[in-house]
Amino acid sequence: MPLFRPPSEADSLILQVTLGCSHNDCTFCSMYRTKQFRTVPLLELEQTILRARQVAGDHVRRVFLADGDAMCLSYDRLSSVLDLVNGAFPRLQRIGIYANARDVLRKTPEQLASLRARKLSILYMGLESGDEATLARIRKGATVDQIVEAVRLAQAQDMNVSVMVLIGLAGRARSQQHAFGSAEAVNRMQPTYTALLTYTPTPSPLFEELERGEFELPSPEESLQEIRTFLSNLTCRTYFTCNHASNYLPLKGRLPSARDTMLAALDAALRGDIALKPEWLRGL
Ligand code: SF4
Repeated sequence: MPLFRPPSEADSLILQVTLGCSHNDCTFCSMYRTKQFRTVPLLELEQTILRARQVAGDHVRRVFLADGDAMCLSYDRLSSVLDLVNGAFPRLQRIGIYANARDVLRKTPEQLASLRARKLSILYMGLESGDEATLARIRKGATVDQIVEAVRLAQAQDMNVSVMVLIGLAGRARSQQHAFGSAEAVNRMQPTYTALLTYTPTPSPLFEELERGEFELPSPEESLQEIRTFLSNLTCRTYFTCNHASNYLPLKGRLPSARDTMLAALDAALRGDIALKPEWLRGL
């Protein structure tokens, strides 16, 4: 512990194939700061999978590979893990994973196709921001172009990709550049899913910047304006969600058809006609 998974993997068997995050350097992220990164040995994994099979074997349809960037495993290691999982659960439909761009780009198209054939069919990738200056500032370890390329590469092998953007991450200073740049990057990716979360400070280097007054968070209303700019400029087909616990106003819908409805809800919230989620109900 701690253990994290995407909200959409709530009913999945969570299998920790790595512990922590091999990057562990994003300045906003505190998720794995208490964990020393390591790869779980195959023998240990085999025993865990065996126990899971004894308990729930016939019921397991989805598996999520944790922790924070399990795609960092080599192609050979990941293939072996996928083979173990496929062999244990006869009714398995899909396997998901958190992935960083560099770890997707380290694999060849043929290797990605082979992982897809082993049911690795959904990648969760953090764009965080399509604003290059923000991405460098938060030490994501990849450029916008690299993240766009990684998403395209995975999708070209028939993988679904869920791309996350963090509202508020650029602070008040670059809020609009962040919104425009992120919409532009997502338009280039055309991901299956686009998820907006709202940055909520937790102990981390960015939190320290905030405390020193070097970084200023947008207000809830400014966050809505940021979402509005992002959504207005999103022209690709994608399933858009902004219903994470961290968000002030829950929104979701298929784009482009649901855009006008969601923009109308944002405008109503900005006018004060729809109440925003109180701070105590928010979490990241
Ligand atoms: S945001 Fe993702 S890649 Fe960055 S440190 Fe956190 S878990 Fe690792």
